[in-house]
Amino acid sequence: MIIVLKSNRSEEQVQKFISMLTDRYDVTVNTWVGTHSTVLGLLGDTAAVDGEYIAAQDIVESVKRVQEPYKKANRKFHPDDTVITLPTGQKIGDGSLALIAGPCSVENEAQICCVAERVKAAGASFLRGGAFKPRTSPYAFQGLKAEGIELLKKAKAKTGLPIVTEIMSISHLDLFEDVDVIQVGARNMQNFELLKALGHVNKPILLKRGLANTIEELLMSAEYIMAGGNDQVILCERGIRTYETFTRNTLDISAVPILKKLSHLPVIIDPSHASGINWLVEPLAMAAAAVGADGLIIEVHNNPSCALCDGAQSLTPDQFDVLAKKVQRVSETVKSL
Ligand code: PEP
Ligand code: MN
Repeated sequence: MIIVLKSNRSEEQVQKFISMLTDRYDVTVNTWVGTHSTVLGLLGDTAAVDGEYIAAQDIVESVKRVQEPYKKANRKFHPDDTVITLPTGQKIGDGSLALIAGPCSVENEAQICCVAERVKAAGASFLRGGAFKPRTSPYAFQGLKAEGIELLKKAKAKTGLPIVTEIMSISHLDLFEDVDVIQVGARNMQNFELLKALGHVNKPILLKRGLANTIEELLMSAEYIMAGGNDQVILCERGIRTYETFTRNTLDISAVPILKKLSHLPVIIDPSHASGINWLVEPLAMAAAAVGADGLIIEVHNNPSCALCDGAQSLTPDQFDVLAKKVQRVSETVKSL
């Protein structure tokens, strides 16, 4: 339930009103204060709340029931866009186009440091790199695990780029202490125990849409993280399974404006996993910039033909350089319209 308060109310009236709500009903109250209005979002047993009684209170402008099952992730609860700001200053969701780039997997120190330096020079503000890899085959390279995270930290020390890397198990959480943004991969989007644990972590979570999950299911997974108290969720569309076989997945470009309408959370696109084909990454990245994505996560490898994972979709640093310039131009052009 959403309660919009009148603009002429005092802070004391708001506090008294919130106390009345929590005393009378089994609810918790989320408060969003904007320049022109204050919105109270009620969570819990709202069926018991008498809407007519609430609407009749002096301080109340309007009352709405929220039909959607996601509440904290819902734009109705938080009309402004959420901006994720790292302690080191990098932002996602502030209207700029954030670029997250790096190899699918961390392979060795020279590789990750070389790619980090190149993507930074091209304009990336985050370094990606998998240390724990979810592979379809148990015989495929599974990542360097803890050593991979140590190498990412070395690349961060050299370049200053914050690191984004995937977690596959709650039991690894301690290893992620120095990771700046924790990625939940497509295959773990509905690993609810993992999502609950990440709800208690004080860092941004990059949540990828599952291979066969709906937009509402993605928002419900974000809700799991937010319900635990972590509001810093970045949604990522990375392609879904369709009957098309030409591409690895099918990029659901419409997910960007839909998610931004339904939710206040930032939305980014992963054109690398969406297509699986390196020459498709640039046009899809430009489409993402045009449709209003808050960022892109792109696989870049110093030598794609020798990559231990996802070489076919990886760009060379030179190709990323070209892409980065083009997508920023698309983003600025679209914003100026
Ligand atoms: C990845 O980012 O390397 C990855 C495995 O992504 P996804 O979970 O989208 O397949
Ligand atoms: Mn990959």
